[in-house]
Parts: sequence; C-alpha cells; structure tokens
Amino acid sequence: MLAKRQLPYTGAMTRGSRRRAWRNLKLGIAVAMVAASLAILWLTGLASLRLTLAEVQTRAEANLAVQAAVLERLLDKFRLLSPLLARGPETGRLVSGLDIALDRTITSVAAGMSGAEEVWLMDPLGRVIVTSQHGVPFGAIGGGAAISEAFEQARQGQLGRQLIPGNPQSAASYVFASPLRNGESLIGILAVRVSLEDVEQAWALSKDPILALDGDDRVVVTNVPGWRGKFVSDLDFGRDIARLSGLSRLSLMLPSSGGANNHMQLTAALPVLGWTVKTLVSVDEARQQSAWAMVAALLGCVIAAGGLWIILLRREEFSRQIRRDRAAALRLERRVRSRTAELRKANELLEEEVREREQAETSLRLAQAELVQAAKLATLGRMSAALSHEYNQPLAAIRSDAEVAEMLIERGRAEEAKANLTRIGGMVARMAEIAKTLKGFTRKSGTDIRPVSMRKVIDETLLLLQPQIKQSAVEVIAELPGTDIIVKGGQIRLEQVMINLLSNALDAVGGRERPQVALMLRREGKDAVLRIRDNGSGIDEEVMPQIFDPFFTTKDVGAGLGLGLSIAYKIVHDFSGSLQAANRDGGGAEFTMRLPIADKQMLAAE
Ligand code: ADP
Repeated sequence: MLAKRQLPYTGAMTRGSRRRAWRNLKLGIAVAMVAASLAILWLTGLASLRLTLAEVQTRAEANLAVQAAVLERLLDKFRLLSPLLARGPETGRLVSGLDIALDRTITSVAAGMSGAEEVWLMDPLGRVIVTSQHGVPFGAIGGGAAISEAFEQARQGQLGRQLIPGNPQSAASYVFASPLRNGESLIGILAVRVSLEDVEQAWALSKDPILALDGDDRVVVTNVPGWRGKFVSDLDFGRDIARLSGLSRLSLMLPSSGGANNHMQLTAALPVLGWTVKTLVSVDEARQQSAWAMVAALLGCVIAAGGLWIILLRREEFSRQIRRDRAAALRLERRVRSRTAELRKANELLEEEVREREQAETSLRLAQAELVQAAKLATLGRMSAALSHEYNQPLAAIRSDAEVAEMLIERGRAEEAKANLTRIGGMVARMAEIAKTLKGFTRKSGTDIRPVSMRKVIDETLLLLQPQIKQSAVEVIAELPGTDIIVKGGQIRLEQVMINLLSNALDAVGGRERPQVALMLRREGKDAVLRIRDNGSGIDEEVMPQIFDPFFTTKDVGAGLGLGLSIAYKIVHDFSGSLQAANRDGGGAEFTMRLPIADKQMLAAE
C-alpha cells in the first residue's frame, strides 16, 4: 500500500531532494570559502608582519650599532685627553705658579682644539685654578666637589670618570679627570668635560628614539630631549613614541594590548662605560603594512570567492538548462511520436479514400461510357425514321428498276436494261455505305486519343444525317478549308459530338421559312475551330447556363433526353478542347468547338 502511494511522487521528491542537496552544497561551499578566506587573511597578516618586523629589526640593529659607535668613539676620543694634558710641561708649570700667563691659553686651546666643552685645572683640594670657560670664576661645573667621584678617582691616581646628568633643557656631560704629579706628590687635578650634545645631534638624524642608559637605568643621552635625565621606570615609551612620531593614528588600526606593544626595543651594551644603548622602533608601520597586506588578501579572497561563486551559479544554471532541454526534447519526442502515429493513421485513411475514389472513378467512367452508348442509341432511334425512309426509297426504286430491267430483257432489249441495272448497282452501293457508317457509329467507342481527320468526321456525319436533312428540307452549307485538318481525338466520339450539334440545329430550324444550317471549319493558331450556326429560335438567356447540364431539355417528352450537349461537352473536354454556345446577333444559335491540332510527334507515332 505504502509503496503504491509513494510511487507517483518519486519524480517530485527526486527533484526536491536534488534542490535541497544543491542548497546544502552551496551553503557548505560558502562556509568553506569564508573559513578559507579567514585562514588566508590570518596567514597573510602573520607572514607579512613577521617579514616586515624582521626587516625593521635588521634596520634598527644596524642603526643602533652605528649610533652606539658614535657615542663610544666620542668618549674614547676624550678618554686620553685629560692624562695627555696632565703630563704636558705647560700644565706642570702652571700649577707651580711659574707661568700664570699661560693659564687661560692652555685650557682654551686644549678645549678649542679637542672640541671639549670645558677643560679646567684644580688644586689637590678641588679648587679651580684655571678654566677654559671665560668669565666664569669657578668654571661651569665647579671645583672638585662637583665632580667628587671623578676627583676622588683622579686623586687616587686613576683616570677619573663621572657623568654629569642632563635634564630636558640641557644635554649631559661626561668628565674625565687625571692627576697632575710632581714626582710623587699630587699637585693638581685636570678635568675635561665633554658635552654629549654632539652625540644627541648625531642621533637626532635617526627617526627612531635612541637612548643611552647608565647603570642606574637613567637616560644619559637621547635624541628625545624630554627623556633626558629621567629613569626608565618613569617613562611611558608607547605614549611618548606615539606623540613623537605621530603614529598614533596608525597604531589604532591594529589593536594592541598596550602602548609598550607598539614598539620594539633593541639594546646594545657599552661594557666599558657600563651603559646600554637602546633604540625603540615603532612596529606600527610594520603592523600597517601587514594590515595593507591583509586588505589586499581580503580583496583577493573576495574576488576569488566571487568568481568561484559565479562559476558555481553558472554551473547550476547550466545543469538546470540541460535538464530543461532534456525534458523539452523528451516532450518533443513524445509529441513527434504521437503525431507520427496520427499521421500514419491519416495516411491510411487517405489511402483508403484514394482507393475508394479510384473505384468510384472507374465505375463512373464505365457508367459514362454506358451513357454515351445509350445516348448514341437514342440518337439512332431518332434517326431511324429518316433512315428507314432513306432505305425504303432506294429499295422501291431498285424494285421498279429491276422490274423494268426484267421486262426489257424479256423483250430482248437487254442493252436498255443495262442502264437500269447500273442505277440499281449505284443505289445498293450507297445503301451499303450508309450501313457501313451506321455500323461504325454504333460500335462502342474507345478511350484513346489519336490523330483524326476533321474532313472525314464531317463527311460521315453529313452522310448519317443526310436522310434527316433531306426530310426537313434544310439548306446545309459547309465551308471547309482546302487542306484537311488533323486534330487530336477519337473518330466515333467526334462524329457523335457533330451529330448532336447538327441534330439540335436541325431541330431548332424546324418550321422556319428558309431553314439554314452553316458549318464552318477553320484553323486558328494551334486549334481547329468548328462553328455550327443556324437561323432557328436561338437559346433563351435564362436557360443558357443550363444547356450543358445532363437531362436538361426544352423539347417535348420523347423528342429529347437532354443528354446530347452534356455528352458532347464531356467528349470535347476529354480531348483538351472546348465547347461554347452563344446566340447570334441576327437570331439563331452558334456552337463553337475548339480542338487542338495533332502535332508532328503524334502524326509520326501513327
Ligand atoms: P435535347 O436535344 O435532347 O433536348 P440537348 O442536350 O442536345 O438535349 O439540348 C439541350 C437543350 O438545348 C435543348 O432542349 C434546346 O433547348 C437547347 N438547344 C440545343 N441546341 C440548340 C440550338 N441550335 N438552338 C436552340 N436551342 C438549342
């Protein structure tokens, strides 16, 4: 039961489930495309970030190495200046108070030539003896108390070093101090102060912040004046860098956990000084580049996914079209099949009909032939009275001529009897001629078309109708051409047409004062034209359209069957000719028969 009920829906279900499966597939592909796009985006972002970061790092490392070297070289240069100056003879003299005139000159020249910020000399107690700073009584820095660390180291015979921290307004300085000795006794301390501003100026060319930190993590040298002298713990690198480089806008594009994450710190150690040099490189640019790479990847993914989607839709449409085409083809095939069956049936019916028609035509032709024969016999019937008269008259003449001849022979006048016998012979010959023509006419006519002599047709017709013509005392005028005309037709059938037409004309002129029937044969182009005119009553205009109809007659019962003209019409048309009736202007009727003249081919075939 269940199976039976489900069967009719199988097609619909298949179609529905196919559509559902296709929809699921599309959903799956869409999800896969989104997932693939996300993965591609993530990978692109990661890879490009790594690459650009590596590049930034390499660049920053190189920069850091260069900038650290600048600081190191500067300090290195001045490191030996103070011991060198301390050992100079002029310096010894100066401290011994021998050559006070040289005081300022020595320090000034030393400072000027070396590029040091300040060169000054102190006594062992730390008081300033002489300084390169003009107009400053105790120097810019002051005596040994200001550089206590370096002073102490120098006093102990070492190279004293001390950093003089800077502040946001002024750069830091570095002091080298060397002892001045006279023999074993310390006679003074020579200090050289180097401004680290030159380094900062060199570093200022770098776009990334660079800072040198001392052992306490205090900013000693930097290209960011605001940081100078501060401790690293007090600084917020992220915020400061953002403010400095104006990159805050870009850093917003990539979310970061905090300001510190927006830069990369690279450190180089300066072991001699116990310092470290750091550079802070903003990674915002790298992030921005990776963001652009992700945007490009997203664009690529969107385009690829769009293209894929379009291909998918096209495929779907294509397969739908194929299904539609297949269904249409099936429908068409079914229709063609049913139409073919219908056509075959129609064809069979048609064949059947053709067979029936052919049969009907055959029986019609037979009936027509019978009719023609009947009409012929009817004509003969009408002609029989005149014919019997035609025979009786010569018979009576023959009898009397024979009697006369007998009598003359009995009387021994055989010579005279000869003329009678000759006349008898003539009359018998004429009767035999009439009988022969009659016999031919009554024979059943064939159906073939052959060359026929019009002259012969006219002669035989006139012979057959001669008794009637004589009886009715009609003047028959025949206008015939000098040469015979051969037409396409049948001898007996044409004679029948002519007998019908002439009989009608003879009937029509009956009772006229000077009855006349004219018969004219002529060649007109490729036709033979025979006109039969009479001076009878003519044809009534009302009956004109019907005279060729079978059984139409205006004659009395027994006088006419109404078949003569219809048979004549049919025969002439069978010979590809035409038959027309008209009334003459001067009264009477005129029948015109046209027949095609036999061509040379037909004559040659005969
Ligand atoms: P039927 O002679 O037996 O009447 P036909 O078919 O020969 O039959 O002729 C049909 C009719 O056509 C005749 O009854 C007659 O009225 C008319 N008709 C034929 N020939 C002539 C003619 N020459 N003059 C006048 N009427 C004619």
